[in-house]
Amino acid sequence: MANSKFEYVKQFEQHDNLLPNTWIVVRIDGRGFTKFASKYGFEKPNDRRALELMNAAARAVMAELPDITIAYGVSDEYSFVFHKSCSLFERRSSKLVSTIVSTFTAYYVHFWPIHFPDTPLSPPLPSFDGRAVCYPTVQNLRDYMSWRQVDCHINNLYNTTFWALIQLGGLDATEAEKTLKGTFAADKNEILFSRFGINYNNEHEMFKKGSVVFRDYELVEPGTHNTAAEVDTLAEPVEQSKTQSEKDRKRRAKAHIVVEHLDIIKDDFWDRRPWLLS
Ligand code: ATP
Ligand code: ATP
Ligand code: MG
Ligand code: MG
Ligand code: MG
Ligand code: MG
Repeated sequence: MANSKFEYVKQFEQHDNLLPNTWIVVRIDGRGFTKFASKYGFEKPNDRRALELMNAAARAVMAELPDITIAYGVSDEYSFVFHKSCSLFERRSSKLVSTIVSTFTAYYVHFWPIHFPDTPLSPPLPSFDGRAVCYPTVQNLRDYMSWRQVDCHINNLYNTTFWALIQLGGLDATEAEKTLKGTFAADKNEILFSRFGINYNNEHEMFKKGSVVFRDYELVEPGTHNTAAEVDTLAEPVEQSKTQSEKDRKRRAKAHIVVEHLDIIKDDFWDRRPWLLS
């Protein structure tokens, strides 16, 4: 191959292959969505159409990338988990992150008219940032997922109470903020119930728990299978044979992708779906 005298510039590229045999989480987040939400009149605190649009885009991303095991979304963010055996793009961080971000954004724009039929998009158009983080153990990964879901719960309880004080209580934003300063979860539940007759438990599951996207196989009855954590610690060959991983890949590509609003902090979700973390 004849190389040009310019080709040396390729050497300036930095290697960014992520640590092998670790769970890769790519989290994307809407840029300036506080403004974006107000421009398109998102309902406060939770616009259902906007959340369902996020879910539709995430589902499409998962369908295009069979290496993704599970995704979790709340507000304007989505976390995509690549299986620890993933070898897509030789695990190059910039390739993984940019592919997720652009695929997600493309579908977000593509599906926009389905979810907001009366409000066409106009510049500034929606965009997302993204980052990749490696988690070495199943426990670390589950703690990551729990962290995002706890965040969803804390923010949603705060926002639900904040907006009830404004929309139903007639307070302005400053007064609502002052009312909530220093309150605990129990206080917010009490404000919602005693002032507005709202039982927080009856709020929509999607708002309280966020959205979990995963490939659905047959559920496993708890106790009949190794738990995900056990599977991780079993002595297993580090590398699968090519044919086996190719088979797994095809099986994953065919499985139905579902969006549900479940507790992913407790063991039950993972115990019943051992394929997610094995
Ligand atoms: P940044 O660019 O730093 O991420 P941001 O304005 O997007 O800035 P976030 O912390 O990501 O800040 O917060 C997301 C914002 O988008 C919040 O203000 C949230 O209320 C709003 N938002 C996102 N999704 C919805 C939704 N479905 N309904 C109502 N508001 C939403
Ligand atoms: P990868 O995902 O690895 O980038 P690729 O198929 O996109 O795979 P590239 O090396 O990026 O491979 O090459 C871009 C391809 O797109 C080439 O086949 C090129 O001929 C084609 N292509 C891009 N732009 C045009 C264009 N304007 N007209 C015709 N063909 C184009
Ligand atoms: Mg951000
Ligand atoms: Mg944002
Ligand atoms: Mg956000
Ligand atoms: Mg290309």
